[in-house]
Amino acid sequence: MLLLLLNSVTSFSQFPRFKVLAFYSDKVERDHRAFASDAIKFFKDLTVGNGFVFDTTSNMSDLDEEKLKPYTLIMWLNDFPHTSAQRDAFTKYMESGGGWLGFHVAGYNDKDTNWPWFVQFLGGAIFYNNNWPPMPAKMVIEDNNHPITKGLPQNYISPSNEWYQWKPSPRENKNVKVLASLSVDNYPLGLKDIIRNGDTPVMWSNTQYRMVYMNIGHGDKIFMDATQNKMIIAAMRYLVAADKKGNVFKD
Ligand code: ZN
Repeated sequence: MLLLLLNSVTSFSQFPRFKVLAFYSDKVERDHRAFASDAIKFFKDLTVGNGFVFDTTSNMSDLDEEKLKPYTLIMWLNDFPHTSAQRDAFTKYMESGGGWLGFHVAGYNDKDTNWPWFVQFLGGAIFYNNNWPPMPAKMVIEDNNHPITKGLPQNYISPSNEWYQWKPSPRENKNVKVLASLSVDNYPLGLKDIIRNGDTPVMWSNTQYRMVYMNIGHGDKIFMDATQNKMIIAAMRYLVAADKKGNVFKD
C-alpha cells in the first residue's frame, strides 16, 4: 500500500515528462494534410499514461517566443513560418537550445524562400528535385551507433512518399550527420518526375542545433511500417533527451 502511494506520488511529480507542440496547416495540399492528420494521431497515441503532452496548432502565429517557452520540442508537420516575426521567433527558440523535428515540406526551400538562416540551419540543403508519383523506396540506415538508428536494420522499404533531392546536399556540410538516405538501388525513381541518380539524404541532424529533419511526410501511408515508426519515435526521444534547457528526459 505504501509502495503504491509512493509510486503515485513519484508519478505525480515526474509525469508528464515534457511538452511537444506540433504545427500543421489544413490549407496545404491534400497529401500533406493527410500526413499531418496521421502524425497527430500517431504522436497522441504515444502520450497514453500521460508520459508527455502533445499539443497541436494550425495557427503559425503561435510561433511566438512566449508561447514556445513551455515546449521542449516543436514539430512542423506540413508547414513553415510565413512572416518575419514567425521566422524570428523560431530562430530565437532554436538558437537558445530549442528542439525541432521537421517533416517533408517543412524543410522545403528554394531561391524564393529568402531565409538564409533557415538554409544554414537545415545544413545548407536547398530543394533540387523530386520523384512523382509518390513511391515506396529502399532506405539505407547509415549509422547504427546513433541513438535514433540504433537497432534498425541496415535497409528497409519505406512506405510510399514523395522524395526530395537537395543541391547542395546536406552531406557536404561538416556539421551535418546524415542518418538515413535512399539506396541507389531505387534509381530511376519515379514515372512522371524521375530521380535518376545522386545522393538523396532522407534524415539528418545539423549537430549545431537540437534538430532532426526527415523528408518522409507525404500521403496517408507513412505510418504503415513498424521500422520507420520506430525511427520516428527514436528521433523524438533523442531530441527530448538532448534538451539543453534542463528538462532532460531521464532514462
Ligand atoms: Zn509532398
